[in-house]
Amino acid sequence: MKNWEGLYAACMSCQNCPLAQTRTNVVFGEGPTNAEVMFIGEGPGEQEDRTGRPFVGRGGQLLDEMLGIMGLDRSRVYIANMVKCRPPGNRDPLAEEQEACIGYLRNQVALLRPKIIVCLGRIAAMKLIRPDFKITREHGQWVEKAGVQMTAIYHPAALLRDLSKRPETFADLKSIREHIQAVCDHTL
Ligand code: SF4
Repeated sequence: MKNWEGLYAACMSCQNCPLAQTRTNVVFGEGPTNAEVMFIGEGPGEQEDRTGRPFVGRGGQLLDEMLGIMGLDRSRVYIANMVKCRPPGNRDPLAEEQEACIGYLRNQVALLRPKIIVCLGRIAAMKLIRPDFKITREHGQWVEKAGVQMTAIYHPAALLRDLSKRPETFADLKSIREHIQAVCDHTL
């Protein structure tokens, strides 16, 4: 799709995979269409499915705090997921569901043309950075793909489960803030 309106309309009525049968709402993603920084998670959870908005539960509150550490807030970033409909029981999205849905995300990236992409968690990093990406070893590292600076950090849900991951994530967030200052024009 060449514009956001067409892409949004196609996504909202999508029946491309079985998750269409169990979703309450499609969670397209949200943020300004001139955002320079994009955050990509794996898929909607229960609250997201109920509201149609990305990262609105406890994980969303933590993401808001993480954005603050990076000098950001939701008015300046675009937030989306790998799959737009909730996998039942919050399981990981299946490979075939990711494959069915990835075109929407790629289209969002093509329209947004972000300078920085931050993958939230292992699933997004494996799909977008490298299939054998190891989040425990490689979080916070930077790669450049097609002119976009990319990194991955722990998913907020993982940080809620395991407090011991927070200090290293804090260092990652500081690194992201420095990258934003180096490559973005108007985000900070
Ligand atoms: S998860 Fe993606 S591909 Fe599957 S029905 Fe939802 S929007 Fe379509």
